[in-house]
Amino acid sequence: MPPFKCNHDGTCTEIRLCCTDTEMTLTKKDAKRIDALGYNREDYLIRMDDGFCQIRNIEGRCYFYNPDQLTCRIYSHRPEGCKYYPIVYNVEKGKCVVDYDCPSGKTVTEEDIEEICDKVKFLVTVLMKEADCRDGPC
Ligand code: SF4
Ligand code: SF4
Repeated sequence: MPPFKCNHDGTCTEIRLCCTDTEMTLTKKDAKRIDALGYNREDYLIRMDDGFCQIRNIEGRCYFYNPDQLTCRIYSHRPEGCKYYPIVYNVEKGKCVVDYDCPSGKTVTEEDIEEICDKVKFLVTVLMKEADCRDGPC
């Protein structure tokens, strides 16, 4: 579980911002876990020009977003990047940072970042390696 608390100021109650126009990229491990739920990766993934495999958006929302219930259909199996958000790895700065587009970003502490950063960094390494080798899940 991520160390920070999501959505406690109510700003995301109608639409989960991080599930809107998502650019979330998946590893082979993520896709294998989601396929096991009965989904077909040809339906929910799209290969980008840079080789990354990104979740498809349907009408501006993540493929897995349920607009009726305002929830993620695969929440307990969601991609690793979704679990760590709003802590993200900034490749140019070479460090983990908070994406303050997320209204809960301000609740993330330096200790939270420190606790999770190695995992975020490793995830980015895997994603970049799979994209470089055109060896991702899509
Ligand atoms: S992680 Fe941030 S952007 Fe996503 S639903 Fe929670 S508060 Fe909103
Ligand atoms: S997989 Fe779930 S948590 Fe991740 S962007 Fe899609 S709907 Fe949101």
